[in-house]
Amino acid sequence: MTIRQALLDWYDANQRDLPWRHTRDPYAIWVSEVMLQQTRVETVIPYWERFLARFPTPAALAAATEDEVLGLWSGLGYYRRARLLHRGVREVVARYGGEVPEDRDARLALPGVGKYTAGAIGSIAFDRAEPIVDGNVARVLSRVHRIETPLGVAQTEQRLWEEAAALAEGPRPGALNQALMELGATVCTPRAPRCEACPVRSACAGRDVAERLPVPRKKAAPKEVSVAAVVVRSGGRVWLARGQSALYGGLWSVPMCEHAPAQASLLERHEGLPADEAARSALAEVGIVARLGAVAGELEHVLTHRRMRVRVYRASHARAEAHESLRSVDPSELEEGEIGVSKLTRRILAIGVS
Ligand code: SF4
Repeated sequence: MTIRQALLDWYDANQRDLPWRHTRDPYAIWVSEVMLQQTRVETVIPYWERFLARFPTPAALAAATEDEVLGLWSGLGYYRRARLLHRGVREVVARYGGEVPEDRDARLALPGVGKYTAGAIGSIAFDRAEPIVDGNVARVLSRVHRIETPLGVAQTEQRLWEEAAALAEGPRPGALNQALMELGATVCTPRAPRCEACPVRSACAGRDVAERLPVPRKKAAPKEVSVAAVVVRSGGRVWLARGQSALYGGLWSVPMCEHAPAQASLLERHEGLPADEAARSALAEVGIVARLGAVAGELEHVLTHRRMRVRVYRASHARAEAHESLRSVDPSELEEGEIGVSKLTRRILAIGVS
């Protein structure tokens, strides 16, 4: 039996019952694939169900405001994905009458749609022989073909996409791609792969060295940064500013400012300021005049590439004008998920509002 057939047979017998596997709607599959990037399946399921219930069609999502979209995405992280999905879907509505294009190049031209997402939509929704390579697929293929060059280098990436493309050719390319991902998620796991239960074990060249494959890409150590954040309260409400940074673009956040060390930053940055001056500067930047109070506490927040030490100040509000990028909210509104805020802001408010 070929590797391809072994994968399909195994998938038919062992696939997990996931809600997006009951649809061939390219839009619904697109949403699932975007949500699944960097996020665990169990986490995604309720978000995907809520998102599709609220925005069942591209037209419904295109008509939504960014705030509504980010509100539903709140807690999933990597918010840039949501904004790009929103833009991409708006383009589908504007250019293709709300039908996700079957043509691969047209899909690849949409904002936020790269080779992976285009391939997932193409193979699963349109039954086209388009490859996909995500972390799970890369691991399986690296092991089966014993690829010993590191992930992330051009030679490895090209090989992985070629191997995936060769496998996608033939009947049921969507099922084949999902079989590869499923095998990586459930059997060919990063640690302790269950080779004895693997449908391709007899053809796997890397089985005896599986745990050291794939060779990881070289990682930079997370940057240590210090941040001053200010919870500005007035009459039971707190003031939030809409972040323009690459890190939390589009989300509502308490005013904050990174102040050390002196290196490139994704947040507003003022090098070398003492923390309380950084806090004042954060207020000034968003147009709030307030009396800075005591430090309410500190927290550490770790993102993929950054370890943030956040000092949380309280401030009583003297003057600000609500506008497009500044608003005051009742903290209970945040619990209802109507307003898109990051996990970090939620953690800061838990300290500053208590
Ligand atoms: S035999 Fe083991 S290492 Fe090879 S693909 Fe299967 S689970 Fe992965």
